[in-house]
Amino acid sequence: MRLVVKLGSSSVTGGDGSISHGTLRAIASQIAAIRDRGHFAVIVSSGAIAAGLNTLGIVDKRPSDLSVLQALSAVGQSRLMAAYNQALGGFGLIAGQVLLTPLDFINRQQYLHARQTLEKLLELGVIPVINENDAVADDEIRFGDNDRIAALVANLITADLLVLLTDQNGVYTSDPRVDAKASLVEEIDEISEVLKAAAGGPGTQRGSGGMASKLQAASIASWSGVDVLIASATRELVLVEACDRRPGLGTYVNKRKVRLSARKLWIAFANPSVGRVLVDDGAKSAILEHSSSLLSIGVHSFEGSFLEDDPVEVCDLYGEVIAKGLVRVSAEDLRLATKSKVTDSQSPSSILIHRDDLVVLV
Ligand code: GLU
Repeated sequence: MRLVVKLGSSSVTGGDGSISHGTLRAIASQIAAIRDRGHFAVIVSSGAIAAGLNTLGIVDKRPSDLSVLQALSAVGQSRLMAAYNQALGGFGLIAGQVLLTPLDFINRQQYLHARQTLEKLLELGVIPVINENDAVADDEIRFGDNDRIAALVANLITADLLVLLTDQNGVYTSDPRVDAKASLVEEIDEISEVLKAAAGGPGTQRGSGGMASKLQAASIASWSGVDVLIASATRELVLVEACDRRPGLGTYVNKRKVRLSARKLWIAFANPSVGRVLVDDGAKSAILEHSSSLLSIGVHSFEGSFLEDDPVEVCDLYGEVIAKGLVRVSAEDLRLATKSKVTDSQSPSSILIHRDDLVVLV
C-alpha cells in the first residue's frame, strides 16, 4: 500500500524548537519496517519555520511578519532535511526533498510534473520528504500548514492511507484540554459540523495546524478515496500498525465510497474559491437531486469579483456550502443578468456553472 505520513512542527521539534532527532529516528525506523513489508511511504513534514526560529535564537514569540517567516523557513528547511537524511540514512534509506507551493496544485501542468517526480522517486526506492516551499510561496494563497498539502499529495499519488501525526491522540468529542468528559472518536464516516466545531481553532506556537485543519485535510483525502488516520506522533509503532488498520490507534476517517474524478478533485480542493454564490431551494434540489447545472436564474445572491472559469463556492440560503464549481460567467456579467439587462449570453436561464464543472460536496 501507499502511505502518506504527515508530521507537524510540534511533532518534529521539541519544546525549545530544536529538531527532535529522536522522533525522526522513530519515524524512520517505522518507515524502514513498513518498506520491508512492501509498502511505499511519502513523508510530508513541517518544521522549517520552527527550526529557523531555533537556529536564529528567536524563542519568545513567533513573528507575524510573513517575509520574516519565509526567511526563517529558508534557514530551517536545510537543517530539517539534514535531520531527515541522517534519520532515514540510519536505516539505509535515502531521502529526496520535494518543495511544493499551492500553485503546483492549481496549475495542471505543474500538478502532473509533481506527480511524475514523486512516482519516479518511489520507483527509485527513495523516500520523498515534502514541505511547502515557504520561502517563495505566494502569501495570498499559501497553505499555512501542511495538513492540506499532505491531503493533496495523498490524492496526487493515489495513496491508500494518509496518516496525520499530531500532538493529540486523535479527534475528541470536545476539547480535552478543557473538558474532562471529552472522549476520543475512533471512526468517522462523515465529517459533520459538530465535529468541526469540537475541533476548534489553530494549533500551537510552533505550528499553524490544529485539529480543525486536520479534519479539513481528512475531508479532502476521503473525497479522494484515501482513508485517514489522525494519531499521536509519539505512539509507538503507529505507522506499522496503521498499515494493518489496527483499531484504537487514533481517529480513522473512512474514505468515501464514490471517489471524485481527478478533475473534480482539482476543482473542489486544489483551487481556492474566489467567490460565493447563494442559490435558492429550487436550484439546490436540482443540483443535489438531479446533478443539474446551476443556472443564473437560481442564484439568490453572490459575492466576490470572480471572472469566467474561476472557482466559487455554491451555498444554500443558510450559507452552507453544497458544491463548488467553475463559473462560465463573470461576476460583472452575472450582475447584469440578474438586473435583467441581458444579452443572449447573459440571460437568466444561461448556465452559470455547467454540471461537468460542478462538484457536489454534501
Ligand atoms: N511549512 C511550514 C514549516 O515547515 C508550516 C508550518 C508553519 O506555518 O509554521 O515550517
